[in-house]
Amino acid sequence: MKWYEHPRIFYDWVLYGEDLTPEYAQWIVKKTIDIHADTLAFCVVVGGYALWNSKVTPKYEHLGEMDLMGEMARLCRENDLHFVPWWLATATGGVERVLREHPSWQLVGPSVGGKPGKRQNYICYNSPYRELVYEEVREIISNYDVDGIYFDQLPISCYCPWCKAKFERLHGRPMPVVPDEFFVYNSPAGLPGALKEFRDESVRSFCAGIRRIIDEVNPEVCYAQNWVRNVQSHLAVGYADVLLPEFYQRNDLIPLGLRHRLTKTYFDNGPIWGNVRHAVRHDARHFPLRGTKMLLVDCVANLASPLMLDLCSMDFDSTGTEELAETFDHIKSMQEVWVDAEPVKYAAMLHSYNTHRIYSDRFENAFEGMYRLLFENHIPLEIVHEAGVQRGDLEGYKVLIMPDVVSLADKTVGAIREATDNGLGVVATYMTGFADDRGGLRKQPALADLFGFEVEDTAAYDTSAGITSDPVLNLPDIDGSMFYYGSARTEHPLAEGLPEEGLFSFQGGFVICRPIEDAQVIADIHTIDQIRLSSRPYNRRGHYPGPARWPLAILREHNGARTAYFAPQAEAEWKRAHAPELDTLMVRSVLWAGGQTPLEATDCPRSVEVRLFHNREQGVFQIILVNLTTNSLVNAAGGPAVVRYVTPHKGLRLLLRTDRKVISVESQLGSAVHHKVSDGIVEIELPLLDLYDSILIRYDRSMSL
Ligand SMILES: [Zn+2]
Repeated sequence: MKWYEHPRIFYDWVLYGEDLTPEYAQWIVKKTIDIHADTLAFCVVVGGYALWNSKVTPKYEHLGEMDLMGEMARLCRENDLHFVPWWLATATGGVERVLREHPSWQLVGPSVGGKPGKRQNYICYNSPYRELVYEEVREIISNYDVDGIYFDQLPISCYCPWCKAKFERLHGRPMPVVPDEFFVYNSPAGLPGALKEFRDESVRSFCAGIRRIIDEVNPEVCYAQNWVRNVQSHLAVGYADVLLPEFYQRNDLIPLGLRHRLTKTYFDNGPIWGNVRHAVRHDARHFPLRGTKMLLVDCVANLASPLMLDLCSMDFDSTGTEELAETFDHIKSMQEVWVDAEPVKYAAMLHSYNTHRIYSDRFENAFEGMYRLLFENHIPLEIVHEAGVQRGDLEGYKVLIMPDVVSLADKTVGAIREATDNGLGVVATYMTGFADDRGGLRKQPALADLFGFEVEDTAAYDTSAGITSDPVLNLPDIDGSMFYYGSARTEHPLAEGLPEEGLFSFQGGFVICRPIEDAQVIADIHTIDQIRLSSRPYNRRGHYPGPARWPLAILREHNGARTAYFAPQAEAEWKRAHAPELDTLMVRSVLWAGGQTPLEATDCPRSVEVRLFHNREQGVFQIILVNLTTNSLVNAAGGPAVVRYVTPHKGLRLLLRTDRKVISVESQLGSAVHHKVSDGIVEIELPLLDLYDSILIRYDRSMSL
């Protein structure tokens, strides 16, 4: 196991405007030691000046005789810390002098309406700056004892003269302009093929250049890269050793974990460093402590190693150092189990690169909506992508979830069929499998025969569809947006307990389909009563439900595999927010298709994150709990949103299913835990969950199964 697969990183940069002495270097290292991190990441440049004795870049004036990188590398080695110098491409702070001398190297946005493109606060890595950075990297890793290097930022979506010229040289025509292209290359969606290829190549060639230098000079040095994330992570496979995607919390905390996991999936499960910003601003005060402590553990729960950004804030106020040290100690003990453990497999959610490319926002909303549903119901889930599925990654999972995965490659479909032959359950929604990997519509969805339906039509998902204008008044015929009615067939076990003859509403479109053979409809979509809807002159308020007309949910058991198909586009939370019945049906269908879960949260708030790992070597299951019960996050004028409070919970109950002989159940934090073992079931009670916990369930390894 490499050190960079389980570090605890303290991340800082230089204090501006003051003379820097050897005592300063000692202070930075002391901060790292005091919070009990094991790695120091520190910037190598400031304003385009070097913080080391460089032959290629002028030295920072406040350093005097001192070589800050040399001093830090020496101190880190003395104190048993890993040392990771890092570069940043920001104009202010990072490369100011370079841009003053070479204005044409600045990152430029697309030119819109004849106006010149916006000059961004970054330098372009396709300009000759790339060669300068390469030389700087070569110097640092040749001359200093460093454990890794890191690139903060990799701005790639650029229209500077260097990018344009390079594009023309490669493609023999001018670079196409995408007026709303964002300067961070987060997604290939919406780009013309040649431009996508060019951007992809820009990422790959930069990363490949760094890889080459490391391989030449010191292959032991770890290469960590930022801003290659989500579906784009595949671009760094084979070049970077670690990705640090830099996600921040905005409205709530659930998408953070999703993005870390997605990045890891597309990085072929390589190591991820999760970024927790403890500083409000550079050189400013820090965030409320409890949020930082909880978010650091949230990284571990989501398969990443924690990195805490200080950005000089603790130079001014070191309050909380001991509390942070306590959390880093907790993380250290969690990592001792976690690092060579595996998540216990149950549900796999399929993410599709091609669906993202073609239906980006719609698919991402659907994916996040289903992720939330599983998360909140504590159903163990992992993310798989099409390339992985084609390589056999479905093995060991009990149920596959496909939220509106419109585009599916034939090879993916084949792999799914094979897995269902071996008993994998499948749950899909809406237009899953409607298109092939190039977006071409299939006659029938790829797996419709498995789910047991035939498509007749698709009702538009656009919220304005169905709203017609009154010809006399020139007003829409309903007030507000379009929705539909559904109802459950309560005689079916999966709909048991739902309101009999109850109606629930949902937004979004739906597939009009017909069940075949042995498929079973457990819920219906209703027609809209057009006569009443159109009655004049007063009804402008809503829809009247007509009779049940089309299948909403179809179950099927075929060749030992259970499948469930949901015809509505009800994955995104807001589309089914008025219909807890739909939540219930979807969750029950997942559990029906997948069978018993290895872990059940019998009494646990929906906002508590529960993750289950298994370390076979040590003979232990690990349950990591993170309490995400916070205030609605405060978006305080830029930067990460603020966690003001975390509400503790009492009396959590969990149930672990295992046939192994359990020896002990205890919290790694020393919290009180009660447990009872009977018939392959370990009942666990945690009297109090504050910010997070990690419970170890040890079993007798000598009794092999
Ligand atoms: Zn450029």
